[in-house]
Amino acid sequence: RLQINRIRVLVVGLGLIGGSFAAALKEKGICHEVAGYDCSRDSVDIAFENGLIDSPCYDLPDGVGRADVVMLAVPMLAMPAVLQQLVDVPLAGKVVTDVGSCKGSLIESARQLFGEVPACLVPGHPIAGSEKSGVTAARPDLFKGHKVILTPLLHTDTHATALIKSLWQACGAHVDSMDIGHHDEVLALTSHLPHFLAFSLVDTLAGNRENQEIFRYAAGGFRDFTRIAGSDPTMWHDIALGNRDAVLQALDRFTEGLEGLRNAIINKDSQRMLGIFERASTARQHFT
Ligand code: NAD
Repeated sequence: RLQINRIRVLVVGLGLIGGSFAAALKEKGICHEVAGYDCSRDSVDIAFENGLIDSPCYDLPDGVGRADVVMLAVPMLAMPAVLQQLVDVPLAGKVVTDVGSCKGSLIESARQLFGEVPACLVPGHPIAGSEKSGVTAARPDLFKGHKVILTPLLHTDTHATALIKSLWQACGAHVDSMDIGHHDEVLALTSHLPHFLAFSLVDTLAGNRENQEIFRYAAGGFRDFTRIAGSDPTMWHDIALGNRDAVLQALDRFTEGLEGLRNAIINKDSQRMLGIFERASTARQHFT
């Protein structure tokens, strides 16, 4: 059984999430070593120079060979290519985990590549982040007070899950467990849908030059609603495809709700309109 103070962690993908995870573990000093690999050599060098990692890694199979825990923190559509590189590495005694925003597609890739999902793979997703990306956005307190959802399968090694839980707790996170399908449905509604709405709203308003002038008259409400439209386009492209079914269901559910509001406005149905606004306002006040 792996002891936390003896383990070597390799973080693969030193962007906002991977860099922050590495930095949090390094700051706590609870592991033997935190190493970092990224397909961008510059990101590895910056992570090392900025003290996010103890040691740089420029060769993935070699780094995985030396590691006890491998944390995958690359964009969703890069996950299969990284998993592919683990297929020929003996994983006995190691734990592999990830931070991908959608869990079903990751598990499906693992099943296809390994034949069956390795028992040492503990899927995870930190419910923390920002609209910034890349190694320079990483910070050790990113996960403090935030939730992390682990979605182990029935055959996932319970010691592996416990170890990953301890690592996240060391980063200051609260860890919950959830079934993969439920995770993907819930996150499609609470995270993916709001991002797609924000992107779509800003794109609609910014559609032509003439329209861009209206941003000058946009106030706090617009700013609050659309902050996340500044997020990384590639990441959200990957999430749209990685959680396609649940995202489409969420968009349908929203479209139906919006159509209901539209009809209420057409029909000057004040009761219906106020019902929608009051229910939403009350629900929002309960959210902290
Ligand atoms: P990011 O763009 O900040 O970092 C990704 C890093 O992965 C980059 O440094 C990039 O060079 C590297 N990379 C890309 N392909 C690679 C490959 N094949 N091999 C090695 N390195 C590779 O992105 P991020 O925001 O840190 O997101 C990383 C993962 O975390 C994604 O899967 C995302 O879905 C998930 N996530 C993001 C957030 C968020 O708010 N940003 C929140 C929770 C989960």
